[in-house]
Amino acid sequence: MSANPSEEVNPGASFLASAQSALKDAATALNLDPNIYAILKTNERSLIVSVPVEMDDGHVEVFEGYRVQHTGARGPGKGGIRYHPAVSLEEVSALAQLMTWKCALVNVPFSGAKGGVSVNPRELSVNELRRLTRRYTYAISPIIGPRTDIPAPDMNTDERTMGWITDTYTMLKGESSGEIVTGKPVNLGGSVGRINATGLGVAISAEQALLRADLNPQQCAAVIQGFGNVGTWSARHINDLGVSIVAVSDISGGYYNPQGLNIDEMVAYTKSSPSRTLAGYGAPGLQPISNEDLLTLKCDVLVPAAMENQITGANADKIQAKLIVEGANGPTTPAADTILQRRGITLVPDILANAGGVVVSYFEWVQGREGFYWTADEVRERLHRFMEVAYRDMADFSQERGVSLRQSAMMLAVQRVADALEMRGVFP
Ligand code: NAD
Repeated sequence: MSANPSEEVNPGASFLASAQSALKDAATALNLDPNIYAILKTNERSLIVSVPVEMDDGHVEVFEGYRVQHTGARGPGKGGIRYHPAVSLEEVSALAQLMTWKCALVNVPFSGAKGGVSVNPRELSVNELRRLTRRYTYAISPIIGPRTDIPAPDMNTDERTMGWITDTYTMLKGESSGEIVTGKPVNLGGSVGRINATGLGVAISAEQALLRADLNPQQCAAVIQGFGNVGTWSARHINDLGVSIVAVSDISGGYYNPQGLNIDEMVAYTKSSPSRTLAGYGAPGLQPISNEDLLTLKCDVLVPAAMENQITGANADKIQAKLIVEGANGPTTPAADTILQRRGITLVPDILANAGGVVVSYFEWVQGREGFYWTADEVRERLHRFMEVAYRDMADFSQERGVSLRQSAMMLAVQRVADALEMRGVFP
């Protein structure tokens, strides 16, 4: 339970407060020009839209939607669209800021944006979801575009949602507009390698962290919280490094086998299980484990890949992992960060570790604009290059300045965006 009652009423507000405080810390450490800081701590554009949807039984429900663009300093806006009952302007604002830092850190020419609709998509039929997506797209269409702001999937939205957005935007503009979103199905102009890009980026980050810690992947064990897009692909690609995955969890519970889990079999199980989760999964040697115990298991690599605020002041003291690689956005609270840093646990921050998705989104956008598509090997090889360079920049700067990887990542990203703002000057 949170100590601050306002966090319970609107978790987005505390998420935004954390994002603002991370920016403030970086600005202070960089001795940032106060004029630049004043610009960076606000959003360039925030749109709140009403999204009326005719439900299957004929009655109309009205949902609230948002699109926030943090700053246009380094290029068009880029960021996902989230469907969740807890979506709020504050949460979307925090996520838009996070996207600014993420894009700057991995050096893709985008600025941060984010969108969402406050809705429980599980309560809507496919046709209702399609109508919701089309109406939301229409409502935000004045501020999105292939050269202004390019949405992508996020929580509870996927390739199918991106297909609907592409079609709606194309109908509105009267011309082929595939580059309006990334994360599209491949036969609508999506990129090969987009679906697993975030998980592959997590694995590349984990590999870099293991290398620098002088740990041999073949002798390491990893624990993954969350078994959705990021969790499953992180598990598969970390497994490919030779690391044994000893525990994973999803909303149905935790699954532990000290001898190692069969990840491919577990992924296949979720595809055919009625709830699309691991509920009911069994295998020899498998032990059930609570989510709380899973996070504090003895292991080399812990990947929180489910949701925000999982490693907190209440459990950070009990974490036994040597390395934490943040697959999810904001899984570690600032209080936990302080404890982990004091305990010498290396933490690879979300803005680097889960940036593989946005890097391949950039590749998808480039391919769409060129009308020329790359092979899976080209995508993979280029993603490796982007992630490894970003990791090296972050690790070197962290050593140089004697700061944590999270502080280093933020400082580098903020400096890059500040430099762009400085070069542009203030309009008019
Ligand atoms: P998803 O919906 O595909 O998967 C989420 C997983 O977490 C599911 O397996 C769900 O069962 C599990 N989960 C939910 N609550 C849980 C709990 N209390 N304990 C254990 N497991 C729980 O979502 P995703 O796309 O994999 O995203 C996960 C996180 O990664 C989010 O924070 C998202 O913002 C972030 N992220 C995603 C991408 C991407 O490309 N998908 C990119 C960057 C960041």
